[in-house]
Amino acid sequence: SIVLGLESSCDETAVALVTSDRQILAQRIASQDEAHRPFGGVVPELAARAHAERLAPMVETVLAEAGLTLADVDGIAATAGPGLIGGVMIGLVTGKALAMAADKPLIAVNHLEGHALSARLTDSSLEFPYLLLLVSGGHCQLLAVEGVGRFRRLATTIDDAVGEAFDKSAKVMGLGFPGGPAVERAARGGDPRRFALPRPLLGTDEPHFSFAGLKSAVLRSWAALDAPGAQAQADMAASFQAAATDCLVDRTARAMAVAKGPLVVAGGVASNAHIRGALAGLAETHGRRFVAPPAWLCTDNAAMIAWAGVERLALGLVDGLDAPARARWPLDPDAAPARGAGV
Ligand code: ATP
Ligand code: MG
Ligand code: FE
Repeated sequence: SIVLGLESSCDETAVALVTSDRQILAQRIASQDEAHRPFGGVVPELAARAHAERLAPMVETVLAEAGLTLADVDGIAATAGPGLIGGVMIGLVTGKALAMAADKPLIAVNHLEGHALSARLTDSSLEFPYLLLLVSGGHCQLLAVEGVGRFRRLATTIDDAVGEAFDKSAKVMGLGFPGGPAVERAARGGDPRRFALPRPLLGTDEPHFSFAGLKSAVLRSWAALDAPGAQAQADMAASFQAAATDCLVDRTARAMAVAKGPLVVAGGVASNAHIRGALAGLAETHGRRFVAPPAWLCTDNAAMIAWAGVERLALGLVDGLDAPARARWPLDPDAAPARGAGV
């Protein structure tokens, strides 16, 4: 089967055509970095306008490039959340209109399930169950992935997501927007031991993540510097990246004791080569397989949404035209909050 995927939950407008035998027939990803850069972060209203202008023409381009029409497609998959609600509504409504016009099934995809299943698009040997480290701009979770739509959350962040910590630290150091790739680039020429930064929750019994203390420490250490230049940026970036990586590895090691299968990483932060390397080392130490999608498939794209659509369509998991757009949509709705009430 062939699924058309639409993604518009943050600041990437993306369209892809993916087949059930894992071929990406055509795809486009339009990032809005230039539009948001002057503001140092994603402006929801600007993002929604850009999605509204770009999405429909991109569908035409992708279909034309693959030499197909809507009639050749077996399903329309659109991100239905979680994310910035304006953008999510534009993608979902576009998906509904296409599904209605062509009389095709609609698949309302959870963006996080898109990330979670992305490794199965490029690795046909990856079977359920697996342990997933989902690290992105809005999320930092460990999940036991038991099947399509079957997630057990083992850990989450009690404050910031790791991608958010990368972005905010980059801003403090004057590395600009988007921050994650800038920190990774700057860190290459830096000394990770120059700044002694905290590793929140390292080695504790608690399963969760915390990055707020690390972010504040970057802010404090940076403010204490006298006329910091490019070398300070590189050293701070390297020190921050090393601390964040230590936290991810430590929490993941803890989860490996309770979750079976290969270790899989996904989400925008999973494109970071230093983090990928550290996780590969961890998996090797534990005699577990490590699977990471190619870097382009880690950051937001529509191929992962189309692929989640392929997986859902194969199981008959299609949605009605009344499917809601959701700003919040946890993968494991039964998971307890990271910290109990009053704690
Ligand atoms: P979510 O998926 O939680 O809804 P999102 O879609 O905004 O959030 P993604 O596109 O999956 O997030 O990931 C973007 C995040 O990944 C940003 O915080 C960005 O800084 C981070 N990121 C991207 N590339 C890198 C990198 N090379 N190193 C570290 N972080 C990175
Ligand atoms: Mg983005
Ligand atoms: Fe994402």
